[in-house]
Formats: sequence, C-alpha cells, structure tokens
Amino acid sequence: MKLGIVGLPNVGKSTLFNAITKAGAESANYPFCTIEPNVGVVSVPDKRLEVLRKMYDSKRVLPTAIEFYDIAGLVKGASKGEGLGNKFLGNIREVESIVHVVRCFEDENVVHVDGSVGPLRDIETINLELIFSDLELIDRRIQKARKMLKGDKSLQKELDLLERIKETLEEGKSIRALDLTEDEEKMVQEYTLLSFKPIIYVANVSEDDLLDSEANKMVAEVREHAKTENAEVVVICAKIESEISELDDEEKEQFLSELGLSESGLDKLIHAGYRLLGLMSFLTAGPQEVRAWTITVGSKAPQAAGKIHTDFEKGFIRAETVSFDDLVTAGSMAAAKEKGLVRLEGKEYVVKDGDVILFRFNV
Ligand code: GDP
Repeated sequence: MKLGIVGLPNVGKSTLFNAITKAGAESANYPFCTIEPNVGVVSVPDKRLEVLRKMYDSKRVLPTAIEFYDIAGLVKGASKGEGLGNKFLGNIREVESIVHVVRCFEDENVVHVDGSVGPLRDIETINLELIFSDLELIDRRIQKARKMLKGDKSLQKELDLLERIKETLEEGKSIRALDLTEDEEKMVQEYTLLSFKPIIYVANVSEDDLLDSEANKMVAEVREHAKTENAEVVVICAKIESEISELDDEEKEQFLSELGLSESGLDKLIHAGYRLLGLMSFLTAGPQEVRAWTITVGSKAPQAAGKIHTDFEKGFIRAETVSFDDLVTAGSMAAAKEKGLVRLEGKEYVVKDGDVILFRFNV
C-alpha cells in the first residue's frame, strides 16, 4: 500500500515524514520495497503476530508494511505545469491514497504561506490543483470520445459520464464527492483522476489540543469538509509523533498511556488507510516465521495465496484455515485440529481478517 503525503509548506509534513522514517521498519525485512529518500516504510501494527510468535516459537516476525511517499512541494500553480509542478502531480498519480496534512495549530513563529492559519482554504488550494490537472485530462478524453462516437454510438454513455465529471470539476469539486454507480466507478478508475483518489486529511494540532481535539474549531471544520468527500480525518500532533518515533515499543506504550492515548497518530493513520482502501490482513505462522499479508476485503483464497507466491495461486488446491481467535482459544494448531476448528477451504472461500492459513498447492 502506497500513501502520498501532500500539503502546503509549513504545515508539518517533514516533521511527520521524519517521524515515519525514524519509526520505520527495517528495510532488510522488506526486500521488495524500493527505499528512496522520499519513501518511508512502516510496519502495520498487529498485536496478533506476537501471540503467534510465542505459540510457534518462531524465529522472526514479519508484519505487513505501508510505504509513505513524501510529495512535498505541491503548491499553488502546480497544475499550470511549470517544471516541478507536473512532477509532483505525477507522483500523486502513482500512490493509492493521498494523505493531506492540514495545519490546525497556531504558532506565531511558524509562518503560513497565505498569512494566516486556515485549514479549509489550505484544503481548497491543494484540491484545486488536483482538480485543474483532472480537468485537462478529462477535456482530452472528451475530445477523443467525441471523435470516436461518430463510428461507435455505444460510447454515448461514456461521453455522458465524462461530461458529468467535467461539470463537477468546473464547480471546483473533487470527483470522489460524485455519486457513481458501480459501473461508472469502474470506468472512472481507469481515468486515474487525482481528485478521485481516496484521501485522508491529517489535522496537525498543537500538543495542547491533542487530547481534546474536538474543542479545536479548525479540526471540526476539517471533519465537516471530509464528510462531503467520503474522506477520513486523523488528528495528530506531528511534534509528538516525532518524539514517539525515538522510543522503543515499551517506552512508546508507556508514553502514550501517560498522555491518555490508546495509539500513536502514525498508527491511527495506518489504520485509517486500511479502512479507506478496504484492506485487511491474513496471517501465516510456523517455526521459521510469523507473517501478516495485506489483501483487499472480499479476496478469495487463491488470490490470497498469490500474495505469497504466484505459484501458490496457479497450483492452489485448498487453504487450511483457522480464525486467529479459535487458534488462540485452542492453544495450538494441533489442538485446534482436534477440536475441528481448522477448516479445509476451497477456491471460492472469501478470506477473513485474522485467518491463519496454510495453503496446499501443486507445483
Ligand atoms: P512542512 O513545510 O510542511 O514540511 O513543515 P515542517 O514539518 O517543516 O514544519 C514547519 C514548522 O512547524 C517547523 O518549525 C515545525 O517544528 C513546526 N511544527 C510542525 N508540527 C507542529 C506541531 O504539531 N505543533 C507546533 N507547534 N509546531 C509544529
């Protein structure tokens, strides 16, 4: 899962991104991720893994990971295409979801590019850049569709949809706010529109506001706006995240409980990303390693197997499956089998979050 961090200058992006890279997963564990300076890889926190590690006395634990891309530099005028602007928009095209950091803290020592703190104006500024870029793309699509319509009348439906998208964009609205049927949604997905990408607004508040963020009017404004776009809101204090990233797991828990928080802002962000993108994890366990794997909700057993290895998907026979809770109640895989809690699932099985699976396959 790839998330791209955007936001105006001086809102706390670098502070958050540095916290992410410091808290970051050991890159040796994630050989498939390309680690570049603008990429931070963090593991998805999952308490079930440690329970399984103890049960199997496994050598190592491999949580699943999320990649954060620092897309700093997106400013007013980016869509006009001057040099770097286009590059940033191109970077956004490559991520699955946008994390928009919005400043909700006052600090006279930190200047705001527009002279005063105003989260809704910030949101509009960035969203308009994405909207302008989408408009250009849609205009080109419309021209092409009109030409092709002469030979192929079946394209009328698509043209109507494109016109509707154009109208929405011209009103200054993001496409993710548009009501679409399932078919339309599939079509729009292919256009790779920036304003259609799922978005999480990160409201960056001051240390004092973190515990009672609802008292912060700016956070309330961001929430109101997010509702109109089916977006998620996560409240963090980037400064505190930066402090947390220096701590080990035990110190982190202690620090959070002293603050009266149940999880760090980064963990909240990761979970919001999971929810927004419809993701979940299944688990594999053995003496060598315990591991979590990310799949989309609704994936069937062979697709899940394919996450591990393409051969597993091609030669899929069945999935020996037990839910994490059943396995823990039974105490061991052998005991779970004895109690009949381990099921043999076939090709049509829809994998559930927390399933512990052993795949049987032909090579
Ligand atoms: P960027 O330009 O968006 O990357 O912003 P930075 O992360 O560089 O932050 C700009 C300034 O705001 C720095 O001086 C940070 O220390 C400060 N800052 C960032 N997050 C917070 C916060 O949560 N509270 C306060 N008071 N200051 C912050």
